[in-house]
Amino acid sequence: MSIQKHLQEILSALPEGVRLVAVSKTREADQIMEAYLAGHRDFGESKAQEMVPKYEALPKDIRWHMVGHLQRNKVKQIAPFVHLIHSVDSPRLLKEIHKQGEKHQRRIDCLLQIHIAEESTKFGMDQQELVDLLESDLYRQLKFVRICGLMGMATFTEDSQKVRGEFRHLREQFQLVKEKYFSSDDAFCELSMGMSDDYLLGIEEGSTMVRVGSAIFGQRS
Ligand SMILES: *Cc1c(COP(=O)(O)O)cnc(C)c1O
Repeated sequence: MSIQKHLQEILSALPEGVRLVAVSKTREADQIMEAYLAGHRDFGESKAQEMVPKYEALPKDIRWHMVGHLQRNKVKQIAPFVHLIHSVDSPRLLKEIHKQGEKHQRRIDCLLQIHIAEESTKFGMDQQELVDLLESDLYRQLKFVRICGLMGMATFTEDSQKVRGEFRHLREQFQLVKEKYFSSDDAFCELSMGMSDDYLLGIEEGSTMVRVGSAIFGQRS
């Protein structure tokens, strides 16, 4: 099946209000253009050094999402154009994004990545780190970042009950944080959860953004 067909199929399964980020890491420009010509504009990358040349080569109305772990020294490469950083996992990274945003006089939208999986290899903050950040003085000074919600990655497992439980836990954290820290901030509204193997579960548990790669472009080699 073609990229276009896969896209259509996935989009038709998304309820209103859920956005699809087509994760295009490792894909060539012609594959991305196939999705673009089908009307898609939101693409996700996991490495700054891969995102930058694609940004330069491809149409400028593409919204580039950073979904992978981001090193502080790479922020400056993507700060001029990135649409949303899903993977903010430390106060130091947030501070660097603010600094680069100030340099370019643009406020950069971010999601805070929360560790919900069993595997310790997946990045993200725990509940305490999240609360500490949101209650810190540092956070209030960062005028060039805007926190738009939370992101999480479930455990890589066939056990869908486990995945569902992890997504549900993230959704509950989202609601608590929303009530306590962002109740009058409409921008805090995104919950990025769900990939090729679990995006339907993510949606059932309240995702507003799914990050899907291989189900659109095929298996990565
Ligand atoms: C690669 C990646 C995805 C997409 O994974 P697929 O299984 O190909 O859909 C989603 N989110 C993150 C953070 C990724 O690194």
